[in-house]
Amino acid sequence: MINVINPARFAEVVGQVPMCSSADVDRVLDQAQAAFKTWPRTAPEERASGLRKAAQDLRHHLPELATLLVRENGKPLREAETDIRRSIELMEIAASDLPEWSKPAMVEPRQPVWARRRARGVTAVISPWNSPVLLSFKRFVPAIATGNTVVLKPATYCPLTIMRCIRIINDSLPSGVLNAVTGSGATTGEMLAADERVRAIAFTGSTEIGRRIMELGSRTVKKFFMELGGNDPALVLADAPLDPQAVERMTNAILRATGQVCIAIKRIYVHESRFGELIEKLSQSFDRVVVGDGLAPETTMGPLNNKSQFEFVSGLIERSKSKGLTVITKGTKLSPEMWRHGFFMLPSIILGAAETDEIVRCEQFGPIIPIMPFKDEAEAIARANDTPYGLRASVWTSSRDRAQELADRIEAGAVFWNSHGIFKDLHIEFPGIKQSGFSRESRSAALDHYVDTYGFAE
Ligand code: NAD
Repeated sequence: MINVINPARFAEVVGQVPMCSSADVDRVLDQAQAAFKTWPRTAPEERASGLRKAAQDLRHHLPELATLLVRENGKPLREAETDIRRSIELMEIAASDLPEWSKPAMVEPRQPVWARRRARGVTAVISPWNSPVLLSFKRFVPAIATGNTVVLKPATYCPLTIMRCIRIINDSLPSGVLNAVTGSGATTGEMLAADERVRAIAFTGSTEIGRRIMELGSRTVKKFFMELGGNDPALVLADAPLDPQAVERMTNAILRATGQVCIAIKRIYVHESRFGELIEKLSQSFDRVVVGDGLAPETTMGPLNNKSQFEFVSGLIERSKSKGLTVITKGTKLSPEMWRHGFFMLPSIILGAAETDEIVRCEQFGPIIPIMPFKDEAEAIARANDTPYGLRASVWTSSRDRAQELADRIEAGAVFWNSHGIFKDLHIEFPGIKQSGFSRESRSAALDHYVDTYGFAE
């Protein structure tokens, strides 16, 4: 059994999940394969109605699910509720799109040729711990909606809420359509990646593990959906609006989920004329952060999720200090007496970093941000692009035209003007580029991804 620990109070075991054996994984893959004999042949309306019913049931459990997510993940309750609500909305959107999307399209009228879609088979969904519910739903909902069967491997540190969701959803689906196997990545995850019965893998996680999964899966020529790591830059130009709302948006883009977000701002390049001002304003903003248990209403930032991430980020701060970089730590401890009993960390700004420093090169995935001055924009763009990653980026300027001009030169899946990371509309999504992955997931593109299209000529 795997004990799932509350990152805000180590003494609390929130729950347990089995460490699945290879025989367990084998049995679940058989179940998924057996269900695939009938599930893709059900009418799209029937699949849509199952999803709608499941979404309704999940809504009734929203408070319970959000609380459980805070207890295993650490993020503040408000953020956890948003994750769950968005996950449910994704199901509703897929259910409403499915009947129309499923209609074949005529691609050539002279000799009637139709593009028709066919589910691919058993799909493995492998998810990370930072948004363990939303990033699972984003992948398995379109997969099952389009007639595939799914075997989900939740993140080892945060499996409980998603497992609870699956139990609720399964009241509305035939047995074997949506399955889960818990365990470690190295055993359970690798078995899924290598197994011939798995026809597609939708993976969200680090670039390193994504590469390993593609290596294993390529032996049986699976289709991949890869959303990987990021090291997003923010470029703050000489005319950037640094009013309180802009600074708040920037703070949120750095510290949401304690910085454990693939699309968080991870490096800031600021024009030298605004360097001092930005540091002062961000420091003041970081100082308003209250770090504590995500269930406490006063908390604005929760703990890091797990020991290895806590040790990595703590080590990064120590190594930065020992290299002579300046670390400005701000914020308030909600309960100083609980500080040693959770993976709590105050937010920090790091100054003096060079492009070659670890804090700039790596994906910190924590509440620390390097801020570096630049002289001219061409230099800033070159530094922003000097990374294997290409997830998101942002340009902070008073001029929309300037932002767009720079956006054309920045290597990222999406570039934001005076904000960072999140589209207001849940339907909009752009994949990362370079080593941040590939695969589009918005609305009908997500449904398209999980099927093969074949031509039927009359
Ligand atoms: P991770 O890559 O360590 O693990 C992700 C999942 O893969 C987990 O379920 C893990 O158990 C499993 N896994 C680990 N080793 C495996 C193996 N050898 N074979 C098969 N499965 C294996 O990532 P993490 O630490 O859980 O999450 C943080 C990373 O995820 C960061 O790099 C972050 O940027 C990235 N991420 C990317 C996105 C995106 O949409 N691009 C979203 C969230 C997180």
